Amino acid sequence: MNKKSCLNCGHSISGEYCSHCGQKSDTSRITPHSLIKNDILGSIWHVEAKFFHTLKHISFRPGQTAMDYIAGKRIRYSNFISLLLILFGFNVLGYHFYEKFSPTEVLSEDILDIKNFFSKYSKTILFVIIPMLAINAYFLFKRINLNIAEHFIIGTVSLLGILILFLFDDIVSLIGLWKPVSKIFDFIDKIIFGLSVLFPAITYWNAFKKSYSKSGLLWRVLVLYVLMGVESTAISLILYAIF
Ligand SMILES: [Zn+2]
Repeated sequence: MNKKSCLNCGHSISGEYCSHCGQKSDTSRITPHSLIKNDILGSIWHVEAKFFHTLKHISFRPGQTAMDYIAGKRIRYSNFISLLLILFGFNVLGYHFYEKFSPTEVLSEDILDIKNFFSKYSKTILFVIIPMLAINAYFLFKRINLNIAEHFIIGTVSLLGILILFLFDDIVSLIGLWKPVSKIFDFIDKIIFGLSVLFPAITYWNAFKKSYSKSGLLWRVLVLYVLMGVESTAISLILYAIF
């Protein structure tokens, strides 16, 4: 029998990957063909495919995606935390792009003050959503028996969905600056904003619909929103008072 050994660590291998270090068991030399096919196109294609697969699943079945990930089906998805940073980066770019092209609004001193405060701390406020959702949901959905870290994953997926919608909203707002279509795009803009507010509810509903009755799930999601509203108001007031 022809036993191969791993070129990286020397462990003997039988499958497609080394069971010791995880390197591909392919032992052939790098050729111009393999360089283009596997190393360049292959890795780009692999990353892109995974990235869009993850975005698609988070958009259309966020709760199921989070629960899959928690249950151990992970290799099919991009890492959620890296995705969070990538989407956040795109959002910052999109917002700056929009601000550059949008006409400057005339705002009163007070509103300007609040607007500055929120644009300054929006990052903090946005990322605080994850632990807030996780802690509240941990107590509200006790029966599911997920630990706090697993609830963090669901919170992360909720925020990912919101960031995807915000990105979409930036594009819609940019197109809406063009006068002939501004009415219809303003309307789409409002729908997307509504969806982003509802996104955590959609996520929890999708995640736990098999574990609770409709009414049981409904009141829990409503209480989650009330708690989030009260807590985020309190946090904003505290931040506003301090800074
Ligand atoms: Zn190895």
